[in-house]
Amino acid sequence: MRKYNIGWGLTSKCNMNCELCYSKETRNKSIDISIVDWKRFVDENHEQIDSINYGTGENALLDDFFVFIDYARAKYPFIKQSVTTNGFITQRILKNDNYHDIFMRALDEVDISLDFADKRKHCDFRGQQYAYDWAIQTLEHLQGSKIKATIVFVGFEETLKKENIDGLFEIAKEYDTMIRLNIYRPVSEAKEINDKFKLSYKTLFDSLRYINSQYRINRHFDSQPFFR
Ligand code: SF4
Repeated sequence: MRKYNIGWGLTSKCNMNCELCYSKETRNKSIDISIVDWKRFVDENHEQIDSINYGTGENALLDDFFVFIDYARAKYPFIKQSVTTNGFITQRILKNDNYHDIFMRALDEVDISLDFADKRKHCDFRGQQYAYDWAIQTLEHLQGSKIKATIVFVGFEETLKKENIDGLFEIAKEYDTMIRLNIYRPVSEAKEINDKFKLSYKTLFDSLRYINSQYRINRHFDSQPFFR
């Protein structure tokens, strides 16, 4: 039977305000479905699921996120689970022992969004004064744990400057993580956002060549290169 790797946004809610957010328009237009539906989906489809990555919004805002990943791990332990977080997840698990236990038990991998090595630039870009601290705290918390951590950054002209690339790799080295580059894809209905963040072919080519000369490319996945 064919197995699928699923990218799933349990929620489009978020406590940050990034200009290029892929889910901003969805957030304003749609209503999230509930844990009853999530459970039904996984109950009906578990035989065809190899892995789930929870992304889109900040899933850790929801108490039901923790309830659900615990449910999926207990009932279907063969499904690998990962989450993409803006770093806020550590704020939840450090204040709730039960959520911390679930986090450690149910997740195999955590992707942490960190676009800029410079604290002020990252916080300004994310529209959240604690964005950098939360991301670093999550990296610290995962260091040495069984959960694999990956820094994820969005590739556009500003983030692909050499000084930022080197800064991100410094952080990755400090916390022993991989880095994944998500190339910005214009999905917004707002032309000015697309124009502001669109990536030129030259910048992409030059930055990939630079990364290849300085660091090790681990693998390519759906046009999202992994490095360390
Ligand atoms: S952290 Fe992610 S979901 Fe939240 S606003 Fe930024 S891009 Fe959107």
